[in-house]
Amino acid sequence: MDPIFNNTENAFALKTDSQLERAYFLFKLIANQPLVRIGTAVTNFAIKAHLPVESLIRATVFDHFCGGTSEEECIPVVDKMFEKGVCSVLDYSVEGKEEEAQFDATLEKILKILNFVKEKQAIPFAVFKPTGFGRIDLYEKVGNDETLTTDEQAEWNRVLTRFDTVCKKAHEMDVALLIDGEESWMQDAADEIVADMMRKYNKEKPIVYNTLQMYRWDRLDYLKQLHIDAKAQGFHIGMKLVRGAYMEKENRRAIAQGYTSPICISKQATDENFDAGVVYMLENLDCMAVFAGTHNEESSYKVAEIMKAKQVANSDSRVWFGQLYGMSDHISFNLAKEGYNVAKYLPFGPVRDVMPYLIRRAEENTSVAGQTSRELSLLKQEKKRRKL
Ligand SMILES: Cc1cc2nc3c(=O)[nH]c(=O)nc-3n(C[C@H](O)[C@H](O)[C@H](O)COP(=O)(O)OP(=O)(O)OC[C@H]3O[C@@H](n4cnc5c(N)ncnc54)[C@H](O)[C@@H]3O)c2cc1C
Repeated sequence: MDPIFNNTENAFALKTDSQLERAYFLFKLIANQPLVRIGTAVTNFAIKAHLPVESLIRATVFDHFCGGTSEEECIPVVDKMFEKGVCSVLDYSVEGKEEEAQFDATLEKILKILNFVKEKQAIPFAVFKPTGFGRIDLYEKVGNDETLTTDEQAEWNRVLTRFDTVCKKAHEMDVALLIDGEESWMQDAADEIVADMMRKYNKEKPIVYNTLQMYRWDRLDYLKQLHIDAKAQGFHIGMKLVRGAYMEKENRRAIAQGYTSPICISKQATDENFDAGVVYMLENLDCMAVFAGTHNEESSYKVAEIMKAKQVANSDSRVWFGQLYGMSDHISFNLAKEGYNVAKYLPFGPVRDVMPYLIRRAEENTSVAGQTSRELSLLKQEKKRRKL
């Protein structure tokens, strides 16, 4: 581990002894695959059966990974992190049904968040998922250039309007807006809309940010093409760079349907692709801004090193680091201590509605074995340090 990330005192400064114990206990549980499977099934059952488990979930996994049930409830967490120089991205993590009323409700929520974060230095970005605004099958159909029925065309127009409404509002309020990346089969259509939004609202500076999932081997070429368009048409590119969260699903589908997987052939190839994307963006900061969303120490360290080599100030507003709340505090808080821009995704929403998000976190940490053991050893190190 790079020495910059070794400081557990700073990493966990906001955690009380009992919160530290809870985090240790949680990651111990999460490290146990059969337990996560059983726990997930039991929790799902208990929620569906309306058993009174919410307070138990709240006191354990929810409070570790989420900021609260509403944006207002997140404020104490936001303020505490900001005291240590770490910003927040309020992430409305309710994954609802694919219904028009739900899409409109999500739109209203994002607009409300934009109003809420305006001029709050501690919350420099808003965020949403494209599938929060429309059905995944419809994105896929549009991405494949399939002919839409009249009803589908009207439905698609509503998706476009929702995008335009939030991007316009973000531009008016001068709040940067991150748009998450999702499954590759819906991403082409989303990319086209987001590129249009950049053309429209990123004329003076990056307001709208798309996401590049660098586990896809075609993303660097996509970025280079967008760069050509940006130079020709005069707009800034905002990009969140991540490795990507849907690898198993992507590979399974590619095999089932007999096409070449869009995913890089190995973890190393993904790592190299991620780092190449970062380098490309840092070399073109005249018209780009990058948000490196990663828990990978080496990648985070490389971004910092390249910035130094290129004499980009640590606090340059065009470079951000991002981690998820409840994970990799040793990266977030130690980078912030060095003056880098850091923002943690802070999920929020009613306890039972954010359960799919929490279950994904548990499953992800179970499958990314290295990450859980790293969290555990850092927590152990800090517990030991406090005892001494
Ligand atoms: C702030 C933030 C925002 C995010 N937003 C998004 C988003 O919008 N969309 C999204 O999809 N994800 C998003 N993610 C999740 C992200 O894509 C990763 O799943 C997660 O961060 C783990 O990757 P890593 O870079 O942290 O670290 P690592 O642990 O080093 O990398 C793990 C990742 O490497 C890749 N990988 C693992 N094994 C292989 C293999 N055999 N072959 C090829 N690749 C492999 C996978 O992408 C896996 O998730 C976000 C993460 C953060 C921190």
